[in-house]
Amino acid sequence: MNDAALEYFDIHTHDLNATRAIISTGPGFPPVAGRFYSVGIHPWETSGEIDADWLMTIRRRVAEPCVVAVGETGLDKLKGAPLERQMEILRGHIAVSEESGKPLILHVVKAFPEIIALKNEIKPSQPWIIHGFRGKPQLAGELVRHGFYISLGEHFNQDVPAVVPPDRLFAETDESDLPIGEIAGRIKNLDNSLPFAIFGIDNSVIN
Ligand SMILES: [Zn+2]
Repeated sequence: MNDAALEYFDIHTHDLNATRAIISTGPGFPPVAGRFYSVGIHPWETSGEIDADWLMTIRRRVAEPCVVAVGETGLDKLKGAPLERQMEILRGHIAVSEESGKPLILHVVKAFPEIIALKNEIKPSQPWIIHGFRGKPQLAGELVRHGFYISLGEHFNQDVPAVVPPDRLFAETDESDLPIGEIAGRIKNLDNSLPFAIFGIDNSVIN
């Protein structure tokens, strides 16, 4: 493992104590000073009760400087509310991402045609990042051609990194117990400066 891998900034974790990482939380979680967050309603949580003013709450939270991305949000055909409802909630997150100028972190399960069609329709100005991508290289290539970014975690198809350019590729721990340095070390073509560039994080303030 090289030093560069050890220094990699984790773009997606649910570990609330993580530093040098973007911690993915729901809108109710109070931020801790010096940490970075993404805020959204996970697709799995769309089947439960959601506050009527959820969108206003997310908009307010995303305005905080420590919140550097919107999500995770997305579409999951195996879990959560019916797809139509998930789509409605996703569109709210997209609006906040575009208004705030902060990237969108996406959880997509068995709904890649839908997410590609949505991106073609909306033509967002903000990066859309497919987190925890476990698909095949062919699908990764198609997503790249449509302008998506791809984030890989502990489990990924070994042929995927080669088809994703370094300026579209991230690493993440998500719910893994492995350190980010170990996961990043398995992905040979990572650009360690990309998380800072895309999420507007000042590298010098977090060391
Ligand atoms: Zn996650």
